[in-house]
Amino acid sequence: MTSYLLEKAWVGGAVRDGVLVEIEGGRFTSVEVRGRVVGFEGNAEGTNPGSHRISGDPERLPGLTLPGLANCHSHAFHRALRGRTQRERGTFWTWRDQMYAVAGRLDPHSYYALARATYREMLAAGITAVGEFHYLHHQPDGTPYADPNAMGHALISAARDAGIRIALLDTCYLSSGFGQPPEGVQVRYDDGSAAAWAGRVADLEAADGVVIGAAIHSVRAVPKDQLAEVAKASGDGPLHVHLSEQVAENDACLAAHGVTPTRLLHDAGALGPMTSAVHATHLTDDDIALLGTSGTRSCLCPTTERDLGDGIGPSRQLHDAGSPLTLGSDSHAVVDLFEEMRAVELDERLATRQRGHWAAAELLAAATYDGHASLGFDDAGAIAVGQRADLVTVDLTSPRTAGTGAGPETAVFAAVAEDVTQVVVDGRVVMRQGDRVDIGRELDEAIGRMWA
Ligand code: ZN
Repeated sequence: MTSYLLEKAWVGGAVRDGVLVEIEGGRFTSVEVRGRVVGFEGNAEGTNPGSHRISGDPERLPGLTLPGLANCHSHAFHRALRGRTQRERGTFWTWRDQMYAVAGRLDPHSYYALARATYREMLAAGITAVGEFHYLHHQPDGTPYADPNAMGHALISAARDAGIRIALLDTCYLSSGFGQPPEGVQVRYDDGSAAAWAGRVADLEAADGVVIGAAIHSVRAVPKDQLAEVAKASGDGPLHVHLSEQVAENDACLAAHGVTPTRLLHDAGALGPMTSAVHATHLTDDDIALLGTSGTRSCLCPTTERDLGDGIGPSRQLHDAGSPLTLGSDSHAVVDLFEEMRAVELDERLATRQRGHWAAAELLAAATYDGHASLGFDDAGAIAVGQRADLVTVDLTSPRTAGTGAGPETAVFAAVAEDVTQVVVDGRVVMRQGDRVDIGRELDEAIGRMWA
């Protein structure tokens, strides 16, 4: 058994002082709120408040400890683009050409190295589970690898070796646009049909810390008559889909089918509580109602959406309609869920010229418990008995966080990824502050090889 005495922790929707947690088999077996504990104010010598209650000394964790954060939308290989696509004017579509150039170069070996480094960067930011939206399946000419899931297996191995849980959201991608066959690097994504996609995905195996989920790349990339098959194949597991990130997608969908992408997905039976609509940016009132009444989750990725010039999704309207919020770092222009949390509120402020749309507690729920649930980890994202034992500790003495009150607003409106001092996943310490140098080196090597 391992035990920690947390100076402050986010437990049951509030910041509590002096929380003693016990962990066995990777889960919390006891969570006890003790109140303010002497010894965290610099006079720890000679005091040990936990020793008379439990066997062994609990490790003291100063700072504010949160449950594990869930990054619900990732394309690991996009990390290789950071800082390298900022010189040109253009749009999402010109950025996509640059992204496709990287997609054309990867093989299972280089993808493993890039993904492992990227997942370690996520861990250092307090992210304990990632939803990997995976469409880079085949060899550059479109031929399957000897192991048709070689790329998916590389991602699962990368996550395992980094120490992060993964929901591999294997993504159906069959067309370049409405009625258009895959072109260029897109042949690497294409399985030929939803049935062939499902057959390949059926060979991927779930394990502890590994969820196998499904994704519809977009209504552009999966023809209308194939949508229902992908939805059906996802069963009770997660089903994610890029939705209305671009106005052009809406226009093309309306031209091809006479309905919005949301309506098309609804009619195919693809909406529901295990579905996550990623971006959900350009929506009609009818779309918002469909997403809300079906309980579909909205996964916003604000740092990517601002990087790509996508627009601002109606996050509060979606939430109020019944669509729970989750968060993702998507293109990894930034890997920092603290920034994603506050960006949801701050973007609403810019759009409405009003403050106070989202409470910090609501944004923390999106980044932790709700996010994990959307990935199929319904036993993670809370410091509570029986939950997976994730602990993300935030420094309260950094130049950013000092003097901010140590409430939930400190986590949402002050902290950054660099303020995370230690990360525990499933009871195991996977990141300490000093690891950042090594993580930077690993990223540099993996990305350097991509551009060499
Ligand atoms: Zn995406």
